[in-house]
Amino acid sequence: MSHNDCIFCKIIDGEIPSAKVYEDDHVYAFLDISQVTKGHTLVIPKTHTKNIYETPPEVAQELFSRIPKIANAIKEVYKPVGMNLLNNNEEAADQSVFHIHIHIIPRYGDGDGYS
Ligand code: 5GP
Ligand code: ZN
Repeated sequence: MSHNDCIFCKIIDGEIPSAKVYEDDHVYAFLDISQVTKGHTLVIPKTHTKNIYETPPEVAQELFSRIPKIANAIKEVYKPVGMNLLNNNEEAADQSVFHIHIHIIPRYGDGDGYS
């Protein structure tokens, strides 16, 4: 369900443009607007939930079950040498958009600018 004033719900609805990486009935993935490395992608459920604490198991299952497929697609395109997955929950842990998301951060070895 879409949530008023949530920028990620607006991205799912197409009200805010985004660079789509993957989409199905339950999940949307798109390039982060401020990429920490090339191919930095955010994966979100189409159901609005704030963060991991408020995410029902079935939504978590939909979200996490798509990650291997999306990670492999990113690996194929960007050819990183590694990849980090990251999920921030609450402001104190650097969550800035309150619609749960998984960061996929491709890594390119020493000097890729991310640590
Ligand atoms: P957080 O800090 O909540 O874990 O991550 C939020 C991420 O969303 C940030 O990396 C930020 O760059 C990204 N972001 C914020 N607004 C937009 C937007 O309008 N479009 C896209 N593609 N990414 C966004
Ligand atoms: Zn939302």
